[in-house]
Amino acid sequence: MASDTTKYVFAFEEGDGKDKKLLGGKGANLCEMTQIGLNVPPGFVISTAACLEYLSTPDRKLPPGLLDHVHAQMRALEEKTGKGFGDPENPLLVSVRSGSAMSMPGMMDTILNLGLNAGTLQGEIRSTGDPRFGYDAYRRFIQLFGKVALGVSDSLFDKQFEEVKKACNAKQDVDLSASDLKEVCERFLKVVEDATGRPFPEDPYQQLEIAIKAVFNSWMGKRAVDYRKQFNITPDMANGTAVNVVTMVFGNRGDDSATGVGFTRSPATGENKLYGEYLVNAQGEDVVAGIRTPKPIDRLQVEMPELAAQLDQLRDRLEGHYREVQDFEFTIERGTLYCLQTRNGKMNATAMVRTSVEMEREGLISKREALLRIQPELLEQMLFPRLDPKVKVNAVAQGLPASPGAASGVAVFDADRAEQLGKDLGQKVILVREETKPEDIHGFFASQGILTSRGGKTSHAAVVARGMGKPCVAGAEGISVDVDRREAIVGETSFKEGDVITIDGTTGKVYLREIPTVEPDFTPELSTLLGWSDEEAKLKVMANADTPDDARRALKYGAVGIGLARTERMFNDPERLPIVIEMIVAETPEQRQAALDRLLPLQRKDFKELFEVMSPNPVTIRLLDPPIHEFLPSEHVLERELAELRSLGMATRGISVLAGAMGLLHTPDKARHDIDAMRRMVDTSMVEDAIAKKEAMLKKVRALYETNPMLGHRGVRLGITFPEIYQMQIRAILEAAAECSRMGIEVHPQIKVPQVCTVQELKKVKSFVDVIHEEITQRYGHPVSFKFGTMIEVVRACMRAESLAEEAEFFSFGTNDLTQATFSFSREDAENKFLPLYNQSGILQDNPFEVLDVKGVGKLMQLAVDWGRSVKPGLHVGICGEHGGHPNSIAFCHKAGLDYVSCSGPRVPVARLAAAHAALLAQD
Ligand code: ADP
Ligand code: MG
Ligand code: MG
Repeated sequence: MASDTTKYVFAFEEGDGKDKKLLGGKGANLCEMTQIGLNVPPGFVISTAACLEYLSTPDRKLPPGLLDHVHAQMRALEEKTGKGFGDPENPLLVSVRSGSAMSMPGMMDTILNLGLNAGTLQGEIRSTGDPRFGYDAYRRFIQLFGKVALGVSDSLFDKQFEEVKKACNAKQDVDLSASDLKEVCERFLKVVEDATGRPFPEDPYQQLEIAIKAVFNSWMGKRAVDYRKQFNITPDMANGTAVNVVTMVFGNRGDDSATGVGFTRSPATGENKLYGEYLVNAQGEDVVAGIRTPKPIDRLQVEMPELAAQLDQLRDRLEGHYREVQDFEFTIERGTLYCLQTRNGKMNATAMVRTSVEMEREGLISKREALLRIQPELLEQMLFPRLDPKVKVNAVAQGLPASPGAASGVAVFDADRAEQLGKDLGQKVILVREETKPEDIHGFFASQGILTSRGGKTSHAAVVARGMGKPCVAGAEGISVDVDRREAIVGETSFKEGDVITIDGTTGKVYLREIPTVEPDFTPELSTLLGWSDEEAKLKVMANADTPDDARRALKYGAVGIGLARTERMFNDPERLPIVIEMIVAETPEQRQAALDRLLPLQRKDFKELFEVMSPNPVTIRLLDPPIHEFLPSEHVLERELAELRSLGMATRGISVLAGAMGLLHTPDKARHDIDAMRRMVDTSMVEDAIAKKEAMLKKVRALYETNPMLGHRGVRLGITFPEIYQMQIRAILEAAAECSRMGIEVHPQIKVPQVCTVQELKKVKSFVDVIHEEITQRYGHPVSFKFGTMIEVVRACMRAESLAEEAEFFSFGTNDLTQATFSFSREDAENKFLPLYNQSGILQDNPFEVLDVKGVGKLMQLAVDWGRSVKPGLHVGICGEHGGHPNSIAFCHKAGLDYVSCSGPRVPVARLAAAHAALLAQD
């Protein structure tokens, strides 16, 4: 492994500030700051390589020669400071700090004041003239070193401390005198001796060696190992911890001393203004421990104006050098400012966006850097309401994060109640179901969010909620829903109808109380940033939108068209569903046509509204896709309803019999009146009609039953077997377009055919289009321009791309279905059964339904693009599956030469930035 000449120890003047893997983040930045001339207390770094070497030895031995180098560095520190390590006359004290390449809580705490012992303590007291300060430093050191390096329990120290406080009637630590603190030190030394069986180490070099080993060991400590596992920190990202040995500076040397933390800009808003807090006469840990309340940094102007000016300078130099917002620690010792740490500031999305735009304008960073420093996914935070981060509550259940955003409301257990409470009474409700069905749709409209205990990310609830932009937690299996009792059991507790719950569709968590949410804000800076994105991006970003509201929202987010409008959503509207059902259960083409004639004006109106909102952008409409039985209730529900209707029929006849029998009885007038009223209310023929209708539906449901509906009678297959349906839709699209044109509204409709596997299907549908188009041209007196294209979501469609391209003007990849078809996985089953195991055991790296499988599905896409364009060079190609909104997939689409991606409205900003990233990174 490492040779004798490996350099393990680096003075701050010599370490390479770029090498965070070797020196850790803290160490690398201490080196860098020293080298650019900032006032950092002298010190040195022992590298992560030394840590790994140490941990690899069976009996945990420091690499040979390491301690000699440490001694040499300590002598150099002595020279720089004019003090001596262990010198009672003028003692040098140091801190020992851990730090790996990634910022990582869970590793060893910093030890301050190392080098103190009975002798140096007296020196410290003499040189400061402040015995209280000396004993206070000493007792802190004994406790920290005892706990951190020797593993002595904190509570043993705390017990002694409390006893002394009590004995001298002190309420707070500051009430303790020097002699009280001396007493504390003596007791602490004894605590260590009792707990370890050895006296507290007096020799400073021995203290240092123990501390270095303790830091190294903490890398493999349980807390650190768990943290790395939890956050997927691989050795590639951070391997081993460095040790930083830093000369102590004291913020607790009186009223001309202080310690604090700063942010070069506000991490909450991004405002270009120093942000932070400080404490006068205190050590760093006091700020963190929260024993005293720190003051806002602005106060420093008043208390120490000269140092406030220096701090402003420090801030400018840090930002000027790092060209990134910095989060830093400082200490002022008797009027001298020291910088003790800096790192890139962690900010929320709003602050990231604002600082990007402002730093570019200030000339600090380039546009490229302004764009690349923001992870596209982060923008989602700005687009959905989220839970107020200040409120800390534990979740009671965890489901799948099926549709982002957070919402609170009263729980309701069926769609009708949701409508009553939500729409009629104006309450905020959360619809809670085992799973949802198309007939629940009115409940979705009335709810703030949806919670289901079954189903995956493509369950009905998830898909519909995403389409509406409402939060949804799906498949929260810890919850068992009892609709009849209007109650849900969650482990030990439960909630009932009317109880307030909160769901977070971004994390999948469920809470049993109201948690306030923070509203999203589309800031001017975000518009600017996304404007820059569009300049860089090659891919255009369109939206999946089914309603005028969706379309308006998509426009607001910057979509340049609709890449997918699903017509089935329009069929699901509660007012239309009965007509749709009539169309489905129709026995003859005439009956079906009658229903379709009623649907035509409704669809035409839908399309007209979409065209008007989106004008002059293109609107791509997909002809009906799902199997039609999805519009019918399930067999099970129908059977139950029929049984209920039949017993109602019996009861109704019973009432008739009763009414007839009344002449035979001595019935008071009032009762006669009531029975007559009842008879009028439920009339026998009405019940019989209802039974007939439901029987017809049940018969149809049984006739339409399919073993594998997703591979069954759907998409273009449906359009060809029931041509009237597609013809009605095509007519509605073209008539709507013609009417818009007549009104002077520029429209670009695009007709898209789903599930195509052979060009013959396309030709057939195109023949409908041609006939209808011709007729409309005649009728309106001018031709309507439109585009005709195909979904590519079947493997054979990829293989036959050349042939499809002859008929299609555009290709639109439906990667949800294409992924299912490529893997032969049904998504629902895969996600609920074996995918988690596949991911855990590394058989599959990712969930291919979330992260586009570039190697398999992507390969098919690339073939289809290339073959299609070989026939039709200008062929327009896009993607409209869920993948269209995910940065990695967008990067692939860019490389594959697609023209656009289409995603749900709120993902549009994410996609715009991701498209810019893809273009910028492809230049490298
Ligand atoms: P963390 O990673 O937990 O922030 P640090 O190593 O930064 O740990 O140290 C903890 C606290 O001790 C911080 O407030 C830091 O500023 C302070 N500190 C560390 N080294 C010194 C030193 N040499 N002199 C004065 N204060 C120090
Ligand atoms: Mg720190
Ligand atoms: Mg599809």
